[in-house]
Amino acid sequence: MKTALVCGAGGFIGGHLVKKLKREGYWVRAVDIKNHEFETSAADEFKRLDLREEANCIEALTLNGGTFDEVYQLAADMGGMGFIHSAECDIMHNSVLINIHMTHHAARLGVPRYFFSSSVCVYRDMQPGEPEMTEAQAIPANPDNEYGWEKLYSERVAMAYGRNQGMAVRIARFQNCYGPYGTWTGGREKAPAAICRKTAEIGDVGTIEVWGDGTAVRSYTYVDDMVDGIYLVMHSDLEGAVNIGSPEYNTVNELVDTVAQVSGKKVTVKHIDGPVGVQSRNFSNERIYSLGWKAKNSLKDGIEKTYPWIQDQVKALKS
Ligand code: NAD
Repeated sequence: MKTALVCGAGGFIGGHLVKKLKREGYWVRAVDIKNHEFETSAADEFKRLDLREEANCIEALTLNGGTFDEVYQLAADMGGMGFIHSAECDIMHNSVLINIHMTHHAARLGVPRYFFSSSVCVYRDMQPGEPEMTEAQAIPANPDNEYGWEKLYSERVAMAYGRNQGMAVRIARFQNCYGPYGTWTGGREKAPAAICRKTAEIGDVGTIEVWGDGTAVRSYTYVDDMVDGIYLVMHSDLEGAVNIGSPEYNTVNELVDTVAQVSGKKVTVKHIDGPVGVQSRNFSNERIYSLGWKAKNSLKDGIEKTYPWIQDQVKALKS
């Protein structure tokens, strides 16, 4: 039986990835600084460890005197735009510590295959309709936030260890990911979850607040598609970063319309000042398409699976 370590498994994508690896027949150790907030982990073993600490990274990576066949590093100090713009020092400090210790000890202990979760936040701000950027065009770099710079640095750390220490390193840059069992309140939630929550909180007719004028464009990727992509990238020969995203680009206003349609509510938007982030990022999916991956879920499909879950969370909190 193949073994896998998933770091950040108490979080949204890591939690879904554990389920995917279990379906694929792996023995899985999950590691996170906290338990999963919304469900019992599907992992064979769950260890609560702070991966900023070097000794904890060694403990996480050690299995029966050896190490794992595959390591998936998704742990990060992470959140939506509100968090990313206010917690720059935490991001630069905490996520770098996690990544330098994890990469160093994974290579030293002889992990054969190591996955690092990066982000399309490594790309510069773009205008909608600008030609798509390939992965290589992230350099020369000009991310609009420190989160993107941290990801770029940690990608390069992982690639350096891969080149020099014979560890197969695979890197994916995720576009905005959404789905059930993700953060939906508390300040770290991303736009799809925040808009689902705000819509669930109003009556059949109501107004929700949205940061900015709603014209910023994003590609929203449903979590099942994302974990399928992660698994494919990990088992591919593709070296260097690989973008994973849906080809469907939507404005925030269109996201609100989709949520309203799925909820059956009449939603009016009040645009307010807030940290919107970039106007757009148009990036090429050609590398992941070369593996036969394509997002199976449209935004509407994904919101149809996400909104009812968030609505249930809102109802449960009220009762
Ligand atoms: P998440 O916040 O739900 O999961 C990250 C997990 O890392 C959390 O459970 C958190 O507790 C854990 N963590 C943080 N600090 C830790 C520490 N010191 N030790 C151990 N665990 C720690 O976020 P997510 O959306 O599941 O994102 C997973 C990965 O994907 C992250 O690396 C993130 O940067 C990347 N990513 C996510 C998106 C997205 O849209 N969700 C987009 C681009 C990249």
